[in-house]
Amino acid sequence: MSPSKPDAGALGVLGGTFDPIHFGHLRLAEEAREALGLAQVVLIPAGQPPHRDVPQSPAADRLAMVQLASAGNPGLAVDDGEVFASSKSFTVLTLERLRALHGAQRPLVLILGADAFNGLPGWHRWQELFALAHIAVANRPGFAPHGRRWPGTLSPELDAACAGRIDTDPAVLHRSPAGRVVPFDMTPLAISASLIRDLIRGGQSARYLLPDSVLDYIGLHHLYRRT
Ligand code: ATP
Repeated sequence: MSPSKPDAGALGVLGGTFDPIHFGHLRLAEEAREALGLAQVVLIPAGQPPHRDVPQSPAADRLAMVQLASAGNPGLAVDDGEVFASSKSFTVLTLERLRALHGAQRPLVLILGADAFNGLPGWHRWQELFALAHIAVANRPGFAPHGRRWPGTLSPELDAACAGRIDTDPAVLHRSPAGRVVPFDMTPLAISASLIRDLIRGGQSARYLLPDSVLDYIGLHHLYRRT
């Protein structure tokens, strides 16, 4: 990615293992871009994710699938910085890199599903994330908090970190470079990468849960056939 112009607008940041990328991720990115007025959403596949088991498919394949899935949508970009890094994929390091690239003033908006947001206190240097970016949180079926039922449903430490930061008006994301937490509603899609892996491993169809181009790639490269 190249450095942005001063008036480039708010940039959405959606990290994930993307093992594989699916319509839940893509709608999250697309709906966040529209609902929050973001100039673009950059998808960042993790190389070695620190918060979960080792991904089942290699980083190069997960990157290729993200590139296929986002092809043709100028509202989406792909950042391969974590895939080719030698260190673990810590979001705080990625945001420091993006902040250096895009300058101190450009609003950065870290987009998280509710499950990822709830797990924030387990992340490396998580309290520093608020100084680097805004955080936008989408509902995800099966995970609380759901959209606008805040505050009061978070863990005490997350609740404390979010005190005074939560705002339901996306306009706040454009008034400062970082520091606000904005819940937003997206079309609820109970799709997960683990569901897709399970279906493929079981010889069942995963069609219509993810782009055909990604499903074709999975078939061609024999991904997720074995545990
Ligand atoms: P897995 O099933 O392997 O745990 P996943 O489907 O949760 O994977 P991740 O790559 O771990 O996908 O998720 C990346 C980001 O996308 C996280 O912030 C997560 O909350 C969000 N996300 C994934 N699927 C959905 C969905 N269906 N709806 C809303 N957010 C989602």
